[in-house]
Amino acid sequence: MKVAVEKISSEPLRLEQEIAPGLWDVDSYDIVFADPIHIAADFLMKPGQIQVEARITTQRLITCSRCLEKTKQGIDYKFIKTYNLDSLGEYLDIDQDLREEILINFPMKVLCKPDCKGLCPDCGVNLNIKKCNC
Ligand SMILES: [Zn+2]
Ligand SMILES: [Zn+2]
Repeated sequence: MKVAVEKISSEPLRLEQEIAPGLWDVDSYDIVFADPIHIAADFLMKPGQIQVEARITTQRLITCSRCLEKTKQGIDYKFIKTYNLDSLGEYLDIDQDLREEILINFPMKVLCKPDCKGLCPDCGVNLNIKKCNC
């Protein structure tokens, strides 16, 4: 999302954009971004700096590391950052920072739910769905 600095004033400027996740290359082996990434951002001019408040929403398809089920998870991140006017040219481009925000928020462990029971190590049954007799 790129904005001409001269368009930003002390009245918040709201911009929305859908970004194809392929463009941002944010997929990993167990997390796939299935839907477009929706960005809604407010740009506000303050003395000497621009304040950006954005919401990043999308759905991602995760593969649970315990039970190997694929599940869709909604994402809703809030992004707040200020940019010094001195460091900017004619345009402010926040894409790189938004992408980083998504990558920083990747879970350490990918689970379909916090208490996923996983697979039985002996018979391989998904213990969230069935019980086994091992
Ligand atoms: Zn699971
Ligand atoms: Zn079993």
